[in-house]
Amino acid sequence: MVAKRVSIFGATGSIGQNTIDLIRRDRPGYNIVALSGGRNIAQLACDAIDLQADIAITAFEDLLEPLRVALTGTGIEAAAGQTALIEAASRPVDWVMSAIVGIAGLLPGLKALEQGATLALANKESLVCAGALLKETASKHNARILPVDSEHSAIFQALVGEDITEVERIIITASGGAFRDWPLERLKTATLAQASSHPNWDMGQRITIDSASMFNKALEVIETKEFFGVDPTQIEVLVHPQSLVHALVGFKDGALMSHLGAPDMRHAIGYALHWPQRKDLPVQRLDLGTAPALEFYAPDLERYPALRLSYEVMSKGGLSGAAFNGAKERVLDHFIAGRIGFLDMASLVETVLEQADAQTGLIETAMSLDNVMRTDHFARTEVDRIVSTSTTYK
Ligand code: NDP
Ligand code: MG
Repeated sequence: MVAKRVSIFGATGSIGQNTIDLIRRDRPGYNIVALSGGRNIAQLACDAIDLQADIAITAFEDLLEPLRVALTGTGIEAAAGQTALIEAASRPVDWVMSAIVGIAGLLPGLKALEQGATLALANKESLVCAGALLKETASKHNARILPVDSEHSAIFQALVGEDITEVERIIITASGGAFRDWPLERLKTATLAQASSHPNWDMGQRITIDSASMFNKALEVIETKEFFGVDPTQIEVLVHPQSLVHALVGFKDGALMSHLGAPDMRHAIGYALHWPQRKDLPVQRLDLGTAPALEFYAPDLERYPALRLSYEVMSKGGLSGAAFNGAKERVLDHFIAGRIGFLDMASLVETVLEQADAQTGLIETAMSLDNVMRTDHFARTEVDRIVSTSTTYK
């Protein structure tokens, strides 16, 4: 058997570590080319040594020295910064895990597609900001993008052997996050610690907070449109507190196909890793006889304004997704830093979207990497400007 050449970007994070867990269980089947991380140098070096990677890269140049020291005598290359990340992403491999958090994942993902690799895409932000660009690049280089987000993996699996033109609707489920049952008034007081704990999923801090605010679901609604090419009116969200049904696909004959599984990202990562085959995965098997009752209900758009905004973003199109994501990433920074409240995040993003709309030639320009980055920069700068000049914020 020929070993699969693999690179993992965002290897030190929650998705990256779950990917490594699967690879480690079937070690001879893989040849690890590049592993990237951010600030967690100890984890990066440890995994690079264990998996005998060719190169380990930290995104931050100031951390090159500690990475070099940790890899001394191992024969593994140590590198740091954007240029090094891009160089590593351009090395030929068969399969790439895109698990960097935020728009920082976009360029490595594009580079991986340019060399024809299969891109397992956890980094939904890149699809939200630059879906057309990613898809164009994939098709130009005969590369493939596979979903890793649990909902999108579920949709993808429900669509095997089906014709997308026969799909009537796609329903993605949402756990409701940490504040599922909180009334609007109480949400104003939500703290960072409260927003950082998820009832069902164990994930990185940023996506956990995004789950509480439903910004994560908002990104996923847009991700659904980009991945499957359906009309926004065909995409529905249902709150499903048990997180066992990940998505449902409704066909024109009224049939609903759903995907169920324990809330464990190794399901979706493993499916993308082994696709088009299925292999045994170390995930809990559901016993529906003893599982909690499955509940579903419509989300309250007043409590979750991010969800409403995602439909506005899709109807505007163009670079609106880049403005939305850029503003969302920056308000999250401010919430984590304690400068703004939980509900301020959505209202600030809404304001910035209105401003982006009013800027001639911003969101309606052609999609290119430069234009995506320009729109992202505009959105972040606007958030910073409002937060620093308004007396409402600390
Ligand atoms: P984590 O925060 O756990 O990990 C993020 C990874 O990105 C880490 O390796 C981190 O390095 C690295 N990183 C952070 N900042 C930068 C940067 N500026 N440049 C390059 N690398 C950076 O996130 P998750 O694993 O939870 O999420 C990763 C992606 O997967 C996100 O896009 C998320 O939306 C998506 N996703 C996650 C799911 C989950 O269950 N966790 C489910 C579905 C999608 P370090 O830690 O060393 O600083
Ligand atoms: Mg998801």
